[in-house]
Amino acid sequence: MRLYNSSQQFKKNRMKCKLCGLDKVPKSNTHYLTDFVIRTALNEDGSKLRGKGSYWSIDPNKATVDYKFQQEISIPNLENLLGRQSTEEENLDAEENIDFTVSDSFCQQCEDIFTKIEDEFASKIIQKFRDTNLNGIDQIELNKNDSQILRLFFLLQFWRTSECDDTFKLSKELSELLRNKILERDKEDLDKIAMSVTYLQTLKDDNDEDPGEKFKTENMIAPVEGTNPTIIIMNDFIIQLYENTDFPFESFYGYNEKSNYIEFINYEKDTFSVKIISNDNRKKILYKINHKSVKHILSNQAELFIKKYSDKFKAQPTNEQIAGCIKKLSTIEDIMKFSEEKLNSFMTEYIDKTYM
Ligand SMILES: [Zn+2]
Repeated sequence: MRLYNSSQQFKKNRMKCKLCGLDKVPKSNTHYLTDFVIRTALNEDGSKLRGKGSYWSIDPNKATVDYKFQQEISIPNLENLLGRQSTEEENLDAEENIDFTVSDSFCQQCEDIFTKIEDEFASKIIQKFRDTNLNGIDQIELNKNDSQILRLFFLLQFWRTSECDDTFKLSKELSELLRNKILERDKEDLDKIAMSVTYLQTLKDDNDEDPGEKFKTENMIAPVEGTNPTIIIMNDFIIQLYENTDFPFESFYGYNEKSNYIEFINYEKDTFSVKIISNDNRKKILYKINHKSVKHILSNQAELFIKKYSDKFKAQPTNEQIAGCIKKLSTIEDIMKFSEEKLNSFMTEYIDKTYM
C-alpha cells in the first residue's frame, strides 16, 4: 500500500519540461521574467531584496484595484494596507503564489541554461543602461557580440512568458524556433527575428523626499496581450516582438514614434539600437497610462453608485448626485487601496448618510 502511494506521489511530482521536453522533476518557484530586471519595481521600497513586497494591479474593468502580493509580506502589514482582515485566500496568495513565477514548467538543467543566458546579460549589458549617465542620449548602439547577448536574453523573456502565461501567445513556429535557440544557447541568426528594446531612464526627482528608492516602484511589469508587436513591460525595459515583417505602427502610449520606430526594430542588423526614453518622458507616459486606467476606474465607481442608488430608491440618480459621490471618493487618500467589500460598504453608508 505504501509503495503504491509513494509511486503515485513520485508520478505526480514529474512533468514534461517545456524547454528540453524530457520527463523531469520541476524546479519550483522560479521567475519567468528575469528577477534582477523586475525586482526593483516590485519591492515596496525599490530595494533589491527578493521576495518582500507588493504592488497594485489595475484592471480597468473593475471599480477597485487588486492588491498583489509577493512572498513573505507579513500578514499584519497586509491587513494594514488593505484596511481589513486579509482573507484565507489572500494569505495563501501572499505565502505561495507569486506573480511571474512558475513551479511546474522547467527542470533544473534547463533553469541552469536560463541562468547562463541571464548572467551574460547581467555581467555585460545591463550596466550600459542602469549604471550609465544617459542624459541627452536618445539611443545606444550595441556591437555584434553585445547585440547577440541582448537578443537571446530578451527573446528568452518572450518565450518563457508565452509558455507560462495563458493570455500571452506566440505562433507555434516562432515558439519552436526560440525553444531550440534557447536550449542550444545559439545566438546565430537572431537578427532574423524583429524586435525592439526601449530603455526607460529611471531617476530620482530632486524634490523626492523619500529617503529610499521608492521611485523605482513607479515602473510597471506587464505582459501585454496582442500581436505584432507582442509587448512586455519589464520595469525599465520595454520589449516588443514582431512576428511578421509588415511592421505596422503602434504608438503604444507614445513609447514608439512614427518617425523612427522602424530603425529600432533591428531587423537583419548585426548591431542593435536601443531607444532611450528620458526620465521626464518616462514620467509623462506613465502619467498617461495611469490617467487612462484611473478614468476607467472612476467610470466603474460611478456605475456602482448608480446601481446602489437605483436599487435603493427605484430611480436613477442625477448627474450632480453621481458627481458628488465621485468627488467624495476622490478625497479619500487610500481609495486606490479599497477592496471590493470596502468600496461596497462605503457606498452604502454614503448613500444612507447623504440621501436618507
Ligand atoms: Zn528541461
